[in-house]
Amino acid sequence: MELNQGLIYTNSNCVGCHRCISGCPVLGANVSVKTENGNHIYVDNDKCLHCGRCLTNCHHNAREFRDDTSRFLTDLKRGEPISLLVAPSFLDNGSNDDERKRAVIKNIISMAHELGMTIVSEGIETERELEYMKDLNSDFAQGYLFDKPLTRDEFEKRLIQRYYPLNA
Ligand code: SF4
Ligand code: SF4
Repeated sequence: MELNQGLIYTNSNCVGCHRCISGCPVLGANVSVKTENGNHIYVDNDKCLHCGRCLTNCHHNAREFRDDTSRFLTDLKRGEPISLLVAPSFLDNGSNDDERKRAVIKNIISMAHELGMTIVSEGIETERELEYMKDLNSDFAQGYLFDKPLTRDEFEKRLIQRYYPLNA
């Protein structure tokens, strides 16, 4: 398990209040660690979906994004496959009446497609959110609308049983 080395991490402001855990869509993405400064909640990089929810939920400025720009530019130059994750906060709780926000997301997605990137919509919970992102040409979507977090074995079983609709 690799803790706190990924794109989203916990800094030394953490007071162990657990707000990040209660709002996280992934079981086990937050791990409690005893440090000399008390209990800190670190991020398990293997499980975290980088949805960004804990950045809003944390009231102690203890969650941060690691600047990954240079790696992004290197991967882009090399033609490596890159996915752009659109976090739920962009969806404005499913509201689609903010045309300026919609225009910004649409243009980001269009530019990302032109650069050969794949768009993944994270944290989709309602049909309305799904339609919103489909309309903006998102390639993939993930979230509770489809299923709760599963183990690999459970997920494979459901795939074999054709549990998921093909064109969701
Ligand atoms: S990261 Fe923030 S929300 Fe999570 S336990 Fe630490 S202070 Fe609380
Ligand atoms: S970024 Fe999302 S998935 Fe990762 S720890 Fe925070 S709330 Fe959980």
